[in-house]
Amino acid sequence: MANPSPLENALEQFDLVAKKIDLDASIYNRLRKPEKCYIVYVPVRRDNGVVEVFEGFRVHHSTSRGPAKGGIRYHPDVSLEEVTALSMWMTWKCAVVNIPFGGAKGGVVCNPKSMSRCEIQGLTRRYTSELINVFGPHTDIPAPDVNTNPQIMAWIMDTYSIAVGYAEPGVVTGKPIDIGGSLGRNEATSRGCIFTIYNLLKRLNRNVEDQTVVVQGYGNVGYNAAQIIHDDGAKVIAVSDSRGGVYNPNGLDPRELLNYKQEHGSFKGFPGADEVTNEELLELDCNILIPAALENVITKDNADRIKADIIAEGANGPTTTEADEILFERGIYHIPDILANAGGVTVSYYEWVQGLERDFWCEDEVNRKLKNIMDRAFDCVWDISQREKVHMRMAAYILAVSRVARAKLWRGLYP
Ligand code: GLU
Repeated sequence: MANPSPLENALEQFDLVAKKIDLDASIYNRLRKPEKCYIVYVPVRRDNGVVEVFEGFRVHHSTSRGPAKGGIRYHPDVSLEEVTALSMWMTWKCAVVNIPFGGAKGGVVCNPKSMSRCEIQGLTRRYTSELINVFGPHTDIPAPDVNTNPQIMAWIMDTYSIAVGYAEPGVVTGKPIDIGGSLGRNEATSRGCIFTIYNLLKRLNRNVEDQTVVVQGYGNVGYNAAQIIHDDGAKVIAVSDSRGGVYNPNGLDPRELLNYKQEHGSFKGFPGADEVTNEELLELDCNILIPAALENVITKDNADRIKADIIAEGANGPTTTEADEILFERGIYHIPDILANAGGVTVSYYEWVQGLERDFWCEDEVNRKLKNIMDRAFDCVWDISQREKVHMRMAAYILAVSRVARAKLWRGLYP
């Protein structure tokens, strides 16, 4: 049987928890669908003078607990289905760490690697302007995701600010510090992920210095995770990007890897390391595996062969529900995306608060608050998983869906 699409996967996960907690049927029916899906067609003048039209999406899954919150990705495989799945995961993620946001996601079908800076700016500004009545500091707050970055967030902030007539930092997070971004936001997803790993290591009585780590994906999340855990003494033995990976059982230096990738466009030919495919990388002998790329990479087809005994999901939706069961039966500790990568949106929340108040915090304060929230969320999820004898994804879902369901019950149905 074919592996499920990200949306099928997200719905299966939701169905499993709904059954487990005996979720009220009306709440179930509402949460199984997004609240709103926007489709926009974005005209962009390419550098050759020709106007091309790109398809873009923004989906709000739930706004019961607060404004719609979630990133925007630029990728050729973006689809309405995928963005819908990602928006559901944002709802659960915000609820797991208990921040007052709902779930959203956006995306544009494009290949930013073959577009110039000027074309990407044109695309971003027009996408924003098509959604100008949707975005807003109290309605829908975008952030970076796959292939988007602080510069792109700055263009969103600028386009929105020009429309309303004043500089509005609260409309987007992951911005550059100079226009109201938060210190610590850039590394926040990775730092949060590493905090969850350290919580787990503590419970298992293991030291970070004794761990070998494999990281799939070398964007913002993968690179920073590799770098932080390397600085803390673990041995990063393999990393990859979309073009493939490199492996050295004696350890690699994450900064050298980044410099090499920036210079050569990929890890191909990185000195002193063997080349591995992305598939091989996932199955390498190591203690900790951090999938930090795209969805559906750990499936029933390879879950039996994963050798790591800790998996921490830096990416959204890297594991199918069938693979979840296989990994659980094999005794692998598996920190799910909606917990492991929630550090990003948590510091987005801090950035939003700082922006609205025009009062900015030092980096230590941001990191301390992030650690508190991640530790608390980990504790809750761990306790549920022990009490209910379920894997950590189910435990995180029990926590998240119950919180969202309670919000929905209190607010009731309009009209
Ligand atoms: N794109 C990130 C995520 O998937 C960050 C979202 C945000 O900060 O709003 O969690």
